[in-house]
Amino acid sequence: MHCPFCGTHDTKVTDSRLVAEGDQVRRRRQCVACGERFTTYETAELVMPRVVKGDGSRETFDETKLRAGMLRALEKRPVSAESIEAAVERIRQTLRARGEREIHARDIGEEVMHALKRLDQVAYIRFASVYRRFQDIDEFRAEIDRLSQEPTFRPDEPRD
Ligand SMILES: [Zn+2]
Repeated sequence: MHCPFCGTHDTKVTDSRLVAEGDQVRRRRQCVACGERFTTYETAELVMPRVVKGDGSRETFDETKLRAGMLRALEKRPVSAESIEAAVERIRQTLRARGEREIHARDIGEEVMHALKRLDQVAYIRFASVYRRFQDIDEFRAEIDRLSQEPTFRPDEPRD
C-alpha cells in the first residue's frame, strides 16, 4: 500500500481489527519513509450474479428494485422494517450462495415469494397474484385454499 502522504511504496500495518460486526477489517498503517500514520478499511466485494430477464436480456442485480417489490406487497401490513431488511439480506445470500454468474429473474421472484410467505401471508398473496399472474380466479382461489391448509395461515385476521 502506497503512503498517501509521500507516495513511498512501503508502509507497514501497525494494528488490524474487525469492525462493523466483523464485515470490515480496519488497519492502522504507518509509512516507513515519512512516519505518517493512516487507516484503511477492507471490505469483501460481494458480487451478485447478473439477472437474466424473461426476454433474454441481462441486467445488474438491483437490490432497490427487489426491496421496492416487497414493500409494495407489504404495504400497511404489520411487518417491521427490520424483518423486511433481514428478508432482503437472506435473499441476497441465497442468490449469492448459488455461485452462478447469472440468475433468472423468475428465480428471484420465487425467492421473494418464499420470503413473503414467511413474513406475511397477505403480502405473499398480493405478490404472487401479480408475479404468477394467476390465469383465472379459480387458480387464485386454489392457492388461497392451499395456504389455508397450512398452520400459520390466519384467514380471520382483520383486513386493511
Ligand atoms: Zn510516507
